[in-house]
Amino acid sequence: MTQPTDRAWRGLPDSRGYYGAYGGRYVPETLIGPLQDLEYAYRALRASATFQTDLAELLRDYVGRPTPLTEARRLSAACGGARIWLKREDLAHTGAHKINNALGQALIARAMGKRRIIAETGAGQHGVASATVAALLGMTCVVYMGTEDMARQAPNVARMRLLGAEVRPVDVGSCTLKDAINEALRDWAANVTDSHYLLGSALGPHPYPMIVRDMQSIIGREARAQSLEQMGRLPNALIACVGGGSNAIGLFHPFLDDPVQLIGVEAGGQGIETGLHAARLADPERGRPGVLQGVHTYVLQDPDGQIAATHSISAGLDYAAIGPEHANLRVLARAEYTWATDEAALEAFHALARTEGILPALESSHALAEAIRLAPLHPPEHILLVNLSGRGDKDLDTILAQEGRP
Ligand SMILES: *Cc1c(COP(=O)(O)O)cnc(C)c1O
Repeated sequence: MTQPTDRAWRGLPDSRGYYGAYGGRYVPETLIGPLQDLEYAYRALRASATFQTDLAELLRDYVGRPTPLTEARRLSAACGGARIWLKREDLAHTGAHKINNALGQALIARAMGKRRIIAETGAGQHGVASATVAALLGMTCVVYMGTEDMARQAPNVARMRLLGAEVRPVDVGSCTLKDAINEALRDWAANVTDSHYLLGSALGPHPYPMIVRDMQSIIGREARAQSLEQMGRLPNALIACVGGGSNAIGLFHPFLDDPVQLIGVEAGGQGIETGLHAARLADPERGRPGVLQGVHTYVLQDPDGQIAATHSISAGLDYAAIGPEHANLRVLARAEYTWATDEAALEAFHALARTEGILPALESSHALAEAIRLAPLHPPEHILLVNLSGRGDKDLDTILAQEGRP
């Protein structure tokens, strides 16, 4: 593996919110002030011992951290070759990594004197995490969700309502995540004095990619310490699925200066050649630099520069843009990005269920699929650490429908 010597990934983003050529703040004038206020408040809180202590206590006592690092012995034996270990974000409260960021941002909002949380959600996982932390901290929560997504993810709509959140249907455009984001931004611009916009991935305008990465870096800090303790060394490679990129950057970031290979796995959908996928970095033809929802990054586009339709069996990976820090790590060749198809992810889901007694989220199954592909190419001394970003209970309907028995 090539290790660039200048370590150009260090200390990013720069003062303007850029990771190399990617990042920034492409928003209407009305949002510049609120984003600056958030950035200054966060920089102060990051250095505050009280804030860090409050966050650490809730991560331990409420979220259930540290999450375990589990050696997948039977899966590794079935693959032959490298040994596979799993970072168990599926065991965090609410069943995925999203709670790490939701909790952190809710504490920032509280410290800024805000009593109301605005969130948007596609599959509903981030909406559930936001509604959960709002209930915990006694804040109001409004979640924007496309009507199309509400129909597809009815159980999560019910969960958010039971947690006391108001789910506002968005009935414009394609009635999905990108329309919900626009509505959430509109609400924030109108109600910024008492509201915080809780963005769910390492995406959007500066400072969100930085805040979300910092909040998710607990995954990598724990995984690094646990590897040294349990393996007696660092793993050879880290593998994580990449939707917006928050679980992946959270795992990768504390390892950036280590001689460890970093592998992000995007949604290959029906296959790159079909165009039915969400592989922004892995499809050189349609994934190109552009601006989407406040950030300059790699975006899936048609030949005219229109945002392309995306497809993935996992709702959490089904988005046209990728977090700007990933775009930069790819350009620097510090991380590499590949894809797994819907079919490979489903196979990986079943393999983990039967060999380890764990039902992984379909998003996480993409990372597992890459580990299963790589393992036979390496000797047993080689260690692959996979981020199991969430549990699969939410995906049972999808999986059963695929098998023709709904
Ligand atoms: C939302 C989600 C993802 C994708 O989001 P990232 O920001 O890329 O991490 C991955 N896994 C699970 C379980 C999710 O809920």
